[in-house]
Amino acid sequence: MSDKTRVVIVGGGVAGMEVATGLGRAGSADVVLADRGLSHVWKPMLHTFAAGTARPDRQKVDYFAQAKRNRFRFQPGTLVAVDRVARTVSLVVEEAETKPPVQLAYDLLILAIGSRANDFGTPGVAEHCLTIDDLTEAEGFHAALRRHLLRALRGQDGLSVAIVGGGATGVELAAELKHAIDLLARYGSPDLPRHLRLVLLESGPRLLPAFPERVSAAATRTLGDLGVEVRTGAMVTGANPAGFALKDGGRIDAVLKVWAAGVKAPDVLSGIEGLERSRTGGLVVGPDLRTTKDPAILALGDCASLTDPTLERPVPATAQAAHQQAGHLVPALRRILAAGTPEASLPPFHYRDRGALVSLADFNGWGTLGRYTFGGGRLNGLSARLAHDLLYRQHQFGLFGPGLALATWAADELDRMVSPPVRLD
Ligand SMILES: Cc1cc2nc3c(=O)[nH]c(=O)nc-3n(C[C@H](O)[C@H](O)[C@H](O)COP(=O)(O)OP(=O)(O)OC[C@H]3O[C@@H](n4cnc5c(N)ncnc54)[C@H](O)[C@@H]3O)c2cc1C
Repeated sequence: MSDKTRVVIVGGGVAGMEVATGLGRAGSADVVLADRGLSHVWKPMLHTFAAGTARPDRQKVDYFAQAKRNRFRFQPGTLVAVDRVARTVSLVVEEAETKPPVQLAYDLLILAIGSRANDFGTPGVAEHCLTIDDLTEAEGFHAALRRHLLRALRGQDGLSVAIVGGGATGVELAAELKHAIDLLARYGSPDLPRHLRLVLLESGPRLLPAFPERVSAAATRTLGDLGVEVRTGAMVTGANPAGFALKDGGRIDAVLKVWAAGVKAPDVLSGIEGLERSRTGGLVVGPDLRTTKDPAILALGDCASLTDPTLERPVPATAQAAHQQAGHLVPALRRILAAGTPEASLPPFHYRDRGALVSLADFNGWGTLGRYTFGGGRLNGLSARLAHDLLYRQHQFGLFGPGLALATWAADELDRMVSPPVRLD
């Protein structure tokens, strides 16, 4: 048996995949990555898979292949329990549900299992609404969209879609759906956009509350110009097969109902005894990203709750924050793992606010530049969309190294030239 430190990473998303790759390459620890899926995708692309304007098969990274290339092991399975005393995690493997869960022993456990939309217990949402929090859900949405689109194309029905949540996810999804419909109309169905009703519901006074008011106003204007009905101050009180009920007594009828509001940590975290949790269920960590009550467990990305003392507010649940935490942790962990001292102190993480970005398909994009980016400022249009894409390319550089990442980028651009811009298959 190896005497190397056993590092178990659960969740191979933005943060977990970067950490597993970085630690695996160093070779100084026995690294296992576990995920409920078999392939990694960049979560901020999910709405494009849902709308059919990007192909998941081109963007998926196979965990087994990534593990082989970077000298870590991959264990498929869904985390169902953590035993902090025995220092083991239990994973249920889909293909073997009747068998006992797989147990993995750890010296250091890194939890990076992301977050989900939060329906705040609104009646009917769980039964009647779609969410796009992972690839399976995005593909499920695409299948439902395709079914309804084919009916609309045959002139049998109109297509009505209502999205709850005026944050970046809801706004980006609305624009992407409109973009997909416009592209499909070019396939000889010029009437298709007339059969579409797209409604975006936000309970607050404006879209994109995390952005400056100027950006909210511009996004509302752009979506309005595209024919998206934006309803702010619209509090949803329930969902049923026909649509949504609003607090003011109104109704929004829709065949496709999407819940893209709120953020909460996965429920499994609430079953880990003795750890401190935030209001939304995230694991509270110190600046060293170790959980406050158990230094053998680290958490990062959306499932962690960290209040950066220099910001005096929680680090946001974004891909940018997850990527920065992974980038901070890898060299620090490599040092202590090489020394065989997994319990040694880690340097504090400081979030560098590089601003927020939102991209409205091919129509527009906006960004605020954080205080660490050229002293703050704004991005508009093409530059904001490029900055949005750049974060993904940085992530790929981390996973593949510069040569392969550049080749992948070039292959994506070639693929865009030869493949149809929207898919119905
Ligand atoms: C449609 C959409 C658009 C977005 N756009 C942007 C954007 O433009 N910019 C931005 O910064 N952020 C954006 N975000 C948010 C961003 O995707 C997240 O903040 C980021 O992915 C968090 O990274 P993470 O590593 O914490 O989790 P994730 O990337 O979500 O990865 C979590 C991983 O954990 C796995 N997992 C979950 N539960 C379990 C379990 N019980 N057992 C085993 N494995 C499990 C999942 O399969 C997944 O691989 C967007 C999100 C969505 C949904």
